[in-house]
Amino acid sequence: MPDLPYRGRLAPSPTGYLHLGHARTFWTARQRALAAGGQLILRVEDIDTARCKPAFTAALYEDLRWFGFAWEEGPDLGGPCAPYLQSERRSLHLAALERLRAGGFIYPCRCSRRDVVLAAGAPHPGEEEPLYPGTCRPAQPGLVAPPDMSGVHWRFRVPPGERISFIDGALGEQSAVAGVDFGDFVVWRRDGVPAYQLAVTVDDAAMGITEVVRGEDLLLSTFRQLLLYRALGAEAPRFYHTPLVNDPATGMRLAKRHAALSLRQLRENGADPAELRRGW
Ligand code: GLU
Repeated sequence: MPDLPYRGRLAPSPTGYLHLGHARTFWTARQRALAAGGQLILRVEDIDTARCKPAFTAALYEDLRWFGFAWEEGPDLGGPCAPYLQSERRSLHLAALERLRAGGFIYPCRCSRRDVVLAAGAPHPGEEEPLYPGTCRPAQPGLVAPPDMSGVHWRFRVPPGERISFIDGALGEQSAVAGVDFGDFVVWRRDGVPAYQLAVTVDDAAMGITEVVRGEDLLLSTFRQLLLYRALGAEAPRFYHTPLVNDPATGMRLAKRHAALSLRQLRENGADPAELRRGW
């Protein structure tokens, strides 16, 4: 990525209340944007309508502001890359799907599997797409006739055996082998919902994001997204993956289901954000 002015993003999914783990990652994103004299964009990733709730969207602005966050563009502020609600960016996602289809990068899939159901959300631990066995993969890559969009999922055909590498800002050189570490992944669900991998790539590219800061649990997704950037002819941003936060009580990774450490609960308990951030 050439030396464009820094543009980072916070990309929460309103599937629950934000917790301290999100705040930790987002704080790094904010600090990096500030240190670079750049901008931070808030994009609400609400495409998974079955799991996202408007009440959680409303809560996240409040919780982030209470914690001390600020952003320069977002659903509440507007900006040159509006809309900032991912669910309103469907035409861009569809155009990218068509471009992938026309370029012979994807194929229709009729398999009905749990990973397809989960594909609209980012694959956090326990949700990682298993290696697709290739049931519907055509023998040769190539152009597939325009779809009757209903009734099929679309999968990205990964180049088997290719090692994909990038230099992570926090972790250094990272690499994974397509077809071994991850397989053909879902880009569009048969119910018309774009998959996280496609939506996040299209939106980060369209919003001119120069660095993606997010949790280490999404490292494997980054390799898939690098393949999407290449297929779409878009320049990939830099990536900076942050360590995950564990619940001090259980040692387990914090998740939205751990209500006790939600920003909402902490606030209700009278916690002081400056105290929570001490040492970050
Ligand atoms: N909406 C995704 C999540 O909350 C964001 C993932 C990303 O930063 O790419 O997990």
